[in-house]
Amino acid sequence: MEPQLSKVVEELAEKVARGEVKLHQVEKHVGGSSNLATLVRRRALEKRLNVHLTSLASTILDFDELVGRNIENPIGAVQIPVGVAGPLLVQGEYAHGEYFIPLATTEGALVASINRGCRAVTLSGGARVRIVADGMARAPVFWTPDVDTAVKLARWVEEHFDEVKREAESTTRHGKLLRVEPYVVGNNVWLRFVYFTGDAMGMNMATIATDRACRYIEERFPGTARCVALSGNMCVDKKPAYINALHGRGKTVVAEAVIKRDVAEKVLKAKPELIHEVNIRKNLLGSARAGSLSYNAHYANIVAAIFLATGQDAAQVVESSMGYTWTELTGEGDLYISVTLTSLEVGTVGGGTRLPTQREALSILGVAGGGDPPGSNAKKFAEIIAAAVLAGELNLLAALAAGHLAQAHERLGRGAARRV
Ligand code: NAP
Repeated sequence: MEPQLSKVVEELAEKVARGEVKLHQVEKHVGGSSNLATLVRRRALEKRLNVHLTSLASTILDFDELVGRNIENPIGAVQIPVGVAGPLLVQGEYAHGEYFIPLATTEGALVASINRGCRAVTLSGGARVRIVADGMARAPVFWTPDVDTAVKLARWVEEHFDEVKREAESTTRHGKLLRVEPYVVGNNVWLRFVYFTGDAMGMNMATIATDRACRYIEERFPGTARCVALSGNMCVDKKPAYINALHGRGKTVVAEAVIKRDVAEKVLKAKPELIHEVNIRKNLLGSARAGSLSYNAHYANIVAAIFLATGQDAAQVVESSMGYTWTELTGEGDLYISVTLTSLEVGTVGGGTRLPTQREALSILGVAGGGDPPGSNAKKFAEIIAAAVLAGELNLLAALAAGHLAQAHERLGRGAARRV
């Protein structure tokens, strides 16, 4: 950096450190450059806190590209190692063939675990996957003076669906309003708007479209219907909730496989009967006894690692990892296993998917960007995620059945594998 520029950065960083310039005002002082502002904020923190942030500084990101879309007040970037599991054979309606799954995690043993599950599923003929529902929800809450008006409002929206749909869809090229589900509690009405959102996860799209629809509705009920909050917590975004499990949010996806007995025994080192027993006693009875909203062993592990690698909204791991694992023994003594993800919220455009490393991770799966037709890339992506969850779930159940869980974590999570 030129000495003159370096002097400007240091002087400005001093002012930020002293609180004379606010964090969000730095861009204004450096000609609008977010890359320079990033450096100033980082230096300010270093001065004020007496810390070294040279690792946070190491990044390929262009903050001029990201501010206004993905981040405010940037100071750098964190790095998460990315591993790969596979090949995983997927037999979906959109995903056909073998895939390598990018996984961003710091949990030792996770990639190895999914990798072994992939091998067992692939050797058994692959994962059959189907998307059984698709729709992103946004549910504003309305105040009305009384239950009579509340019911009138709910009925009016039902009877005037085409008008409401036209208004909502005027804000987007890809978004399509599929339905509005009304819920009345006293004089309150929630209208749960559900959209097809193409290849986008769709939360901004649905929010902007619903805002337009709400204004249109309010104008038809002057003084008697007031949108109190555009999100009334019946959507439900980033909170665990049964409504997502029942009605779905994003994509509801099922992946299944029949794991041959010899594959279970040779690859997973566990008999089908024992894997089945672990599922019944742990995932079903244990979850019921605990009052869990989710009856699975670790969907969140696989979902979170794929979300981080591919630029999904990490907070949506909450509902995207809800679901049920089901097992049966077949007449031939093999293991039937399925995973049902009730509310998998994913996109291949929008949000963090445009970041360079995340986009490359999507390209490993052949789903970077918009699909043809729109929506097909996001569906393919959802099918691959569900298949990867199946692989990860199968392997953990088998490791528990064989009593191998603690050893695997000691070997791969505590560095023991590198010591031998
Ligand atoms: P977005 O980037 O806001 O919108 C997607 C954009 O991609 C739209 O402009 C859409 O245009 C365009 N697009 C181009 N090709 C497309 C295709 N093939 N399919 C679909 N859209 C296509 O992304 P989003 O998915 O709606 O929202 C994701 C972001 O919302 C994330 O950053 C997430 O963190 C954030 N988020 C927001 C809220 C909220 O309450 N607003 C809540 C949770 C998360 P058209 O609209 O014209 O079709």
